[in-house]
Amino acid sequence: MSDLRELYQDIIMDHNKNPQNFHKLENATRVIDGKNPLCGDHYTIYLLIENDIIKDICFDGSGCAISKASGSVMTTILKGKSVKEAEELFNNFHDVVTGKINFDDAIIDLGKLGAFAGVAEFPSRVKCASLAWHAMHQGIKNENVEISTE
Ligand code: ZN
Repeated sequence: MSDLRELYQDIIMDHNKNPQNFHKLENATRVIDGKNPLCGDHYTIYLLIENDIIKDICFDGSGCAISKASGSVMTTILKGKSVKEAEELFNNFHDVVTGKINFDDAIIDLGKLGAFAGVAEFPSRVKCASLAWHAMHQGIKNENVEISTE
C-alpha cells in the first residue's frame, strides 16, 4: 500500500462519515432512484438542470461506505458543471473503476475520482462505486427514471 492509496482510502472514509449534498432537493428537475440489489445500496439522486448546466445535485438514501462516498464525491464534483462535462466525467469515472486507467494515471488526471481506482481490483464493489454515477447519467438523458444494477 502506497501513501497515496492510504490517502485515497481516507477520502472514501471521510465522505462516508460526512457525506456532502446528502439531502432531498425540493426543486429538482430530475429525480432518479438507483438500486444495487447485490449489496443493498439504494439512493435517490436529485438534479436541478437549467440551460444544460447542473445547478444543483443532491442525493439521499442508504448503502455501503463505497456507494455513499461515491455519491458524495460525485455531487461535489458535478455541481456547476455542464451536462456535457458531466458525461465526460461519467466516462472517466467508469474507466477508473473498471481499471481502464491505471492507478497512477487516475491520481494525476482525475483528482478525487482517483480515490475509487482501488475498486477495480474488487469487481463486486464496482457496482457500489458506480451506482450514483449511473443514476446521474440516466437522469441527464431522461426524465425521472428508476435504475437497477441488476
Ligand atoms: Zn455497496
